[in-house]
Amino acid sequence: MTASSQPVFRFAPSPNGRLHLGHAYSALINRTLADETGGRLLLRIEDIDRVRCTPALEAAMIGDLDWLGVRFDPPLRRQSEHFDTYRALLDRLVEMNIAYPAFLSRGALSTRIAEAEAGGQPWPRDPDGAPIYPPDDKHLDAKERRTRIAAGEPFAWRLDMEAALKTTGTRLTWRENGKGPGNETGLIAADPMAWGDVVLARSDTPTSYHLSVVADDAAQKISHVVRGQDLFHATAVHRLLQVLLGLPEPQYRHHALVRDATGRKLSKSDNDTALAALRDSGSTPSDIRSQLGVG
Ligand code: GLU
Repeated sequence: MTASSQPVFRFAPSPNGRLHLGHAYSALINRTLADETGGRLLLRIEDIDRVRCTPALEAAMIGDLDWLGVRFDPPLRRQSEHFDTYRALLDRLVEMNIAYPAFLSRGALSTRIAEAEAGGQPWPRDPDGAPIYPPDDKHLDAKERRTRIAAGEPFAWRLDMEAALKTTGTRLTWRENGKGPGNETGLIAADPMAWGDVVLARSDTPTSYHLSVVADDAAQKISHVVRGQDLFHATAVHRLLQVLLGLPEPQYRHHALVRDATGRKLSKSDNDTALAALRDSGSTPSDIRSQLGVG
């Protein structure tokens, strides 16, 4: 197998809490697929949130993966060490005139939504249920933008979704080897418009989840993205950014989520399913593998 045809997988957790059974499932599936295809599995630490992600949590996360017996191929990539790469990609989107500074604070947006909804007008939501950003700021003129930025007003860079889709002009698709939440599979028509003007970067962080994930999948030459179904719809934004920035297109496989006894998706704040807690109460790595039916 030549280096370029060798599949490359990744597991990309955020060290903002302890890993739970859902992370274990995703890591084990990635390792199994890499082993079955003669591929490599890389570990990426998604730590752009410099407040919630800490070195202690990263060390605990790596310890948990080690205990579980998931082996990673070098090198490890830590997103906090690549802010310059993300900033350069952001600058390109700004130069293409498809990104704009958005000044509405979270509080001001909530007030707007509450007012609209009190008047009987439902506010449009993205596939995760978050409110779509209103179009106000994208129509500000260049002079007002400069004045407000110079005055130190906080802002986020957002993608002008309409303008971005005009630039690509093509029908965006991706190859889904797994299943979406509605059993979507095969060639999927991407619908990035459903997300509205997504955040590309914030005043204190020169990137966002969407921007850094496509930058890193390209930098690490990931050929197969295997992750939870909760990120199925976000793939539409990733495909758009890949086309805008001329980055390669990986194949995708979204897997089912591990759920708790009530059917809810696991969360890092729920300690019962944390690998550390399971280990402390006597579970072994092979108990966890058989409970998850993988590895
Ligand atoms: N960092 C994300 C998470 O922990 C995963 C990102 C991805 O796999 O694309 O949910």
